[in-house]
Amino acid sequence: MIKNNRVQGAVLLGDTLDGPWYLELLQGQTDIAPMRDHLLFGRHHLGDAGHGPNEVSNLPDDHQVCGCNGVCKGTIQKTILEKELTTLEEVRTHTKASASCGSCTGLVEKILAATLGGDYVANKVKPLCPCTTLTSDQVREAIREEPLTDVAAAMSKLCWQTVDGCPACRQAINYYLQVFWPRESRERGSDRFVNERFHANIQKDGTYSVVPRLWGGTTTPDQLRAIAQVADQFKIPEIKFTGGQRITLLGVKREDLTAVWHALGVHGMVSGHAYGKALRTVKTCVGSRWCRFGVQDSEGMGVELEKMLWNCWTPHKYKMAVSGCPRNCAEATIKDFGVVAVESGWELHVGGNGGIKVRATDFLCRVESQEEVLEYAAAFLQLYRREARYLERTAPWVERMGIQWIQQQLAQAEQRTLLSQAFQKGQEDLQDPWQLRAQGMCGKSDFVPLAILDHRQEKVA
Ligand code: SF4
Repeated sequence: MIKNNRVQGAVLLGDTLDGPWYLELLQGQTDIAPMRDHLLFGRHHLGDAGHGPNEVSNLPDDHQVCGCNGVCKGTIQKTILEKELTTLEEVRTHTKASASCGSCTGLVEKILAATLGGDYVANKVKPLCPCTTLTSDQVREAIREEPLTDVAAAMSKLCWQTVDGCPACRQAINYYLQVFWPRESRERGSDRFVNERFHANIQKDGTYSVVPRLWGGTTTPDQLRAIAQVADQFKIPEIKFTGGQRITLLGVKREDLTAVWHALGVHGMVSGHAYGKALRTVKTCVGSRWCRFGVQDSEGMGVELEKMLWNCWTPHKYKMAVSGCPRNCAEATIKDFGVVAVESGWELHVGGNGGIKVRATDFLCRVESQEEVLEYAAAFLQLYRREARYLERTAPWVERMGIQWIQQQLAQAEQRTLLSQAFQKGQEDLQDPWQLRAQGMCGKSDFVPLAILDHRQEKVA
């Protein structure tokens, strides 16, 4: 957008490398009259001497590269040299440049290349963490090969370079063990992220949030009365609805956690896993039960899906939604797995994401029956659990693997059934982690942050 030969704003699609340049023109209110005819085609079209190999060196040190986090070129270069950074990820971690919307990523990579010169290797494959030279993929494949008893055994097999690893590698190895060898392996509390150890999200004031699972986003008068009673009894200061159609109790004291879980459990409520790398929510619209546009029972489908898929660990948080018609009121097309009802059945979509970088789902396939939806949902989740890297959301995973590859894996009925059955087998005998914690601990005021072992490890113990 231009007014009086001054840039007023710009939206870039696709290649956004010229973003900082347009921003510079906007902020400086540069007179663009001499280049107006060519402005739309980008900086290189102007034969601009500042563009090309010398682009980075021509930028002043105080040139703001990352608008989201206010990081300048000089800061990035200084940090690269001081901390001996070699990858984009490291630059993001240490400077926050390119860590938010990502539109400056191309320029940050150029700064990295210009600063390191011949030492820079584009797309360098990063080790899992500083404790090893192996990548996350190599660690996962090695763990998949043979049963291992615990994180220490995996580190020993993989010749770890530190005695007990670091939080990053302990959590990743523990996740791979839980996926491939859930019955053979044991875990310690230190192998889990702190919120997963406590089965609750710690808040800025040191209290916790507690989010019971409300299947498919539905609830009952009995559950609502129970939540209200718990809030009164434990003087919980705030009750809030979440974006995923759940109710969160905010400000729960640590010493009250087990008693709160127990009180909710008496009324049939179980952990919502709002704290974990696990299935969070299955959002639904009212569908054909109530809506005059609904063509399928989206509420019923959401409840079925959630009851089948809850309580398993995934590489990252996992969100789902079911809409009762193509109007898509449940926003299924920005979820990890979205289901949209159509006249002839259901459309399945995968790899969506809200948040800082919104990604719409890729279309997976269309199916006719509820049974097919359930089978595809379990098979896709199992494929993601087994093939993605720890801490990789479905959105980047689907982009990395390609939707065609995922469609191929799930198109063959035999393979799809095997994946689905493998998932179901891993779910056998699962129990609510809150009630496992509450049993024997309810009523005690000294909540001990025991290592959270899931029931499978407890059985072994
Ligand atoms: S998605 Fe369709 S069925 Fe669901 S609430 Fe919206 S209009 Fe109704």
